[in-house]
Amino acid sequence: MSDLLRETKLSDSHDCPAFSKQPILQKIPNRVAEIGEGITIRRALPSALRRTIGAWCFFDHFGPVNLKSSDLKIAPHPHMGLQTFTWTLTGEILHRDSLGSEQIIRPGEVNLMSAGHGISHSEESLPDSVLHGVQLWIALPDAVRNNKPEFSHYSELPSLEQDGVQITVLAGEFLENLAPAKVYSPLIGLALHARRNAATRLPLNPAFEYGVLVLTGEIQVEQESLVPGTLLYLGCGREELSLQVASDSHIFIIGGEPFKEEILLWWNFVARSKAEMSEAADAWEKHERFGEVKGYGDGTERLNPPKLA
Ligand code: MN
Repeated sequence: MSDLLRETKLSDSHDCPAFSKQPILQKIPNRVAEIGEGITIRRALPSALRRTIGAWCFFDHFGPVNLKSSDLKIAPHPHMGLQTFTWTLTGEILHRDSLGSEQIIRPGEVNLMSAGHGISHSEESLPDSVLHGVQLWIALPDAVRNNKPEFSHYSELPSLEQDGVQITVLAGEFLENLAPAKVYSPLIGLALHARRNAATRLPLNPAFEYGVLVLTGEIQVEQESLVPGTLLYLGCGREELSLQVASDSHIFIIGGEPFKEEILLWWNFVARSKAEMSEAADAWEKHERFGEVKGYGDGTERLNPPKLA
């Protein structure tokens, strides 16, 4: 995904409250943003109230949108300093990148692109589908953020059932189920689904902070009611979490060790200084550093950066 704003300010991880060491229940309303012609999404992170949860620094919830009338077409654009993490409930997205990868993202699969020093990609929906899913970005720690780019796709993910709730481990480890996604800081991503009303308790890592987003349906988290459109931030320090899940609800849970490095987020980049941002934007405009994506449209379309304010 990519921002289509014409002018964006640098988003500084220290502009907003630091992570909570204690358990809290903070409701963070999603913002509406446009990611393609006529396609609006709900953006859970970053927000003025919370920039990161662990190393998760960006969280878009798209759809459900019926793509008969409008397609999702995101022309080639660059990324650096982050991993893009894409997962859909329904619908398919075709990913192409400058390493030559061409991969259809199908429901229930994880598509992970590690941008490192620089990569470019395009994302487009396949016709006649109802697209519903998420894309998150994971900030790369300083030690690896200039590594070579990599692309991985994971179609087999560990899954378990507990009290009638199906839990799929998308990233990190849960109850000794280790997700294959290669990540560079302690973090977790879980997808939960209940076919009928269910109640369960999830063991949590007290050193992690967590956030919960409902994709469809309704849940109660520690007696707090939650529906799509609001991210619930839980802070650190919890040993477990009580959940009541309404029939046919889908939930997304992220967590991780609070990310201690000061990061800047602008357009499609994560960096540490404004100079790095303008250097990257210049390189992209000169067709340097980020490679070329082959096979998208007529081969000339690409997204240009907004003005760096
Ligand atoms: Mn992207």
